[in-house]
Amino acid sequence: MRRIAFINQKGGVGKTTCCVNVAAALAKRGKTVLLVDCDPQAHATVHLGLEPHRLEASLYDVIVGERPALEVVVGDVRENLSLLPSALDLSAAEIELAGNVGRENALKAALAEMFQARKYDFVLLDCPPSLGLLSVNALCAAREVFIPVQTEFFALQGLSKLLEVVSLVKRRLNPILRVTGVIATMFDSRTRLAKEVLEDVRNFFGERVFRTVINKNVRLAEAPGFGKTIFEYDPTSRGAQDFSSLAEEILAQPDI
Ligand code: ADP
Ligand code: MG
Repeated sequence: MRRIAFINQKGGVGKTTCCVNVAAALAKRGKTVLLVDCDPQAHATVHLGLEPHRLEASLYDVIVGERPALEVVVGDVRENLSLLPSALDLSAAEIELAGNVGRENALKAALAEMFQARKYDFVLLDCPPSLGLLSVNALCAAREVFIPVQTEFFALQGLSKLLEVVSLVKRRLNPILRVTGVIATMFDSRTRLAKEVLEDVRNFFGERVFRTVINKNVRLAEAPGFGKTIFEYDPTSRGAQDFSSLAEEILAQPDI
């Protein structure tokens, strides 16, 4: 079972788009996937067509220990794909947990039973755009980190802070944690800037950057509004092709 946190403290870099469509691509290939929406904005939940305010329970109830994860998971939100949904109240969890001992491991503890049962081939965690307690919880529950990087000016800005937090979590809380993938997103092949930034990202992260680049594709931006993955919304689009090819690369990585 691979457990991967999609993280970058910058908003709008493509975390949720990558997390949802990678999850869908893996599920389409017969892998069982659990997507954990760790963002109070609940974009991944909405992207998969659920309405957060109508949910009876969310990750909030799980992370504060009020409900077992197994009860809150929306099983088969798609074939092979389950979702631990988010709702706005998740933002309160950050405050409520703050004073607790073991606060960084609340999510991992809440998911422990599921991890032990090896119910899923992949657990993908979509992080909020911050390095707060929810993100740290995702890093503690994960074994791997994927960093989506937008191929625009300022792409590398903030990454040293992110890597610092990852290595701090690794040292203090989760020794197995490793950055195993960097995803170049919203690539516009027509601009020289995008190519230069991609080169900088490759120089900085080396082999860890996936060969597949996620191109800028308007269909990817439209799909969430319809509550659909790219494979449902437009399976012939460039976006669908890119995420298929990314999923193949992910499947070819070793399971650590
Ligand atoms: P994050 O989760 O990092 O905040 P999102 O995945 O929500 O970022 O993406 C931010 C915005 O950019 C969203 O409106 C999304 O639909 C759009 N977007 C993401 N990736 C692409 C892409 N490859 N091409 C076009 N639009 C994209
Ligand atoms: Mg997001």
